[in-house]
Amino acid sequence: MISVKVQCPCGQRYAFDVEPINGRVPSPVACPVCGADGTAAANEIVAQALAAQPVPSPPAVLRVRVPAAEAGSSSGAPLPPTAASSQTFAPRPSPPKMNIGKDGWAAEESQLNKLGTYITVIPAILAAFLGAVGVELPTMTVCIVVGVGGLVGGALNVAGRGPIVAGAIVGLFISLGGYGAVLWWIHDRKSVRKFEILIAFAVGAAPGFLLQYVLQRVFRKRALS
Ligand SMILES: [Zn+2]
Repeated sequence: MISVKVQCPCGQRYAFDVEPINGRVPSPVACPVCGADGTAAANEIVAQALAAQPVPSPPAVLRVRVPAAEAGSSSGAPLPPTAASSQTFAPRPSPPKMNIGKDGWAAEESQLNKLGTYITVIPAILAAFLGAVGVELPTMTVCIVVGVGGLVGGALNVAGRGPIVAGAIVGLFISLGGYGAVLWWIHDRKSVRKFEILIAFAVGAAPGFLLQYVLQRVFRKRALS
């Protein structure tokens, strides 16, 4: 470990400890105040220090210390570098993460998984929308179509990322819940706006999403034990 002190042309002094690689600082050095490149100056100091002492070179940790009292002041009195403020530029290892997609299943959605979402949602919204604009549809048939869409779409959405049965059940809840809420909302209304339909769908689908969340927690716990 070599202690390097650099005097920047702007007047700022900065210091850091470094393990040199091939007799040089392992990464570019810049003045913490003006940003001017200090790599050449730092390498010169490293070379001088290495000439004085033989040093092995394990992987580098670069630490910059900026004497806080000195920063921005133009007084010439040299202050010894202190650890008043210190920044570590060594890459920080990120904490290990479980690979989880945005919607909580074990991976991001593939194209097939996305198709599953459409199959879950579109028949439900379409059926409710058709109902909203006055198209007479046999409720039982519509419920079956919407429900099957939910089952198949939900299973497809989770395929390869989690238990398919869980996906199918969640899909059923989302499609029927959303459809039911929209039907209830447009029931006996003269005019319904599109965003109202979407909000009603989201509210109706909420229990399905809650169920999905609960199931994901259950399966993750099971996977960890
Ligand atoms: Zn500077």
